[in-house]
Amino acid sequence: MNFRRNQSGRTGVWPLVIVSIFLIGSSLRAQPRKPDGPPANALSAISEQDIKRDLFALAGDHFRGREAGTLDELKASAWIAEQLRAIGLQPAGDDGTFFQFFHIQRTRITETSRLSIGDHRLTHGQDAFLLAPAIASVNAPLVFVGKGTPQEMAGVDLKGRAVALEFSGTAPADMSYRRFLFGTMQRRAAELVKAGALAVVWVSDEPAQYYFERWTTGLERGRYDLPGGPNTRIFSQAPTVWLPASALSWVRQPGQQFTNVVNVESFNYPSVNIVAKVPGTDPALRQEHVLFSTHQDHDGVRRAVAGDSIWNGADDNASGCVATLALARAFVKKPGRRSALFIFHGAEERGLLGSRYYVATPTVPKESIVAVLNAEMLGRNAADSACILGQQPPHRNSAELVDAALKANRSTGFRLDTLWDRPDHPEGWYFRSDHLPYARAGIPAIAFTSLLHADYHTPKDEPDRIDTAKVTNITRWMYLTGWDIANRPKRPAVDRNFQLER
Ligand SMILES: [Zn+2]
Repeated sequence: MNFRRNQSGRTGVWPLVIVSIFLIGSSLRAQPRKPDGPPANALSAISEQDIKRDLFALAGDHFRGREAGTLDELKASAWIAEQLRAIGLQPAGDDGTFFQFFHIQRTRITETSRLSIGDHRLTHGQDAFLLAPAIASVNAPLVFVGKGTPQEMAGVDLKGRAVALEFSGTAPADMSYRRFLFGTMQRRAAELVKAGALAVVWVSDEPAQYYFERWTTGLERGRYDLPGGPNTRIFSQAPTVWLPASALSWVRQPGQQFTNVVNVESFNYPSVNIVAKVPGTDPALRQEHVLFSTHQDHDGVRRAVAGDSIWNGADDNASGCVATLALARAFVKKPGRRSALFIFHGAEERGLLGSRYYVATPTVPKESIVAVLNAEMLGRNAADSACILGQQPPHRNSAELVDAALKANRSTGFRLDTLWDRPDHPEGWYFRSDHLPYARAGIPAIAFTSLLHADYHTPKDEPDRIDTAKVTNITRWMYLTGWDIANRPKRPAVDRNFQLER
């Protein structure tokens, strides 16, 4: 319409004015409606300085490894809640607090239990491990059958005896050594018991010894679950004992007596999820939540390695917690249209207990959670490498959520590992963090991770070994993904044919 006036001959200033209006108009339009992205964000609020400071605080020896169900976990949880309050988040746990307490049930062998072979008195959970907490009372002669080959077993009468044998064998290519070792020990023990044995004693060979040293830290405290869950079961079966390789020299001596009295106790104690939110700006969409998930617990104080008994869990998962605090800062600075929910789950290391509890007992309507972005171990391995769990079928439950993460990664530029998310990967990494219960509940869910490393679940997972620049970059990547989801008109759809392989 300015065009006609221009024709009337008053040309002088009009071309300039029109150009100016065009420029103003285009810059006004560009802000809220950029065709390829959400509104301007608060990415600059995420700082490596904050991340590094928080990491050294949370993963420092002060919190003693944050073991679930202990005062250390509660202290760390209070610290996290205090950070959230100071940043300016609203509590979204139970009864107007930042906390959602829940019970974990622990089932373990009591200190009154006894185990001896000949003159050797052994301590359950230290120099011998029972594969299942099973009440038992056995006093029987021990027979050693080598590796238990058919030739070695020929003519051996197992009835009324305890049988000892050396573990041997290699895992098939598509099976983790863990599954192979435990599966073989359990299955073979059942066969031997069926043939009359009263107890089975496994002695590690060299490969099994490597895992005896690494995995028994997960067995020494017993089993954990939510109350009444499958891991609270107390078995009654013949004891199956796992010994280190060093036992071979004395276990094989003939004429020894095997004595094992096993008592089992089960009790509840508290763990806690920390839950906070930043309300969204859109009157309708603010009823929905983008959930930033992580876990605050680790393995606590355990057997010392090189004089250090605090298992700090700096990568696992203080890195995820400090990233989540940084995400919270950015959302407080500039809220999205949808609300942002932040959950620091408790007792993840004891079997994803906090996330399983939250999915069963959410503090916001479960249907209001449009996506879960889980932060699990963000600060190790090559600076430019990372992985999305839930990126590809059968683990992917929302192609739209994955696409948002891939698009956001155009800014952060990580080279993405895709092997660890595959169903045939022996570590089964997809099944080992807090996004899983949400995915099983039909909520779009992915995890961001920098994957395993040699210090994983050892006292060497210390804050000074963390690449905080990398944690910061993954945090930015998570932020851009979450910001997109928080502001898009439609929530990400769930893939219709999502079905996990187990
Ligand atoms: Zn973890």
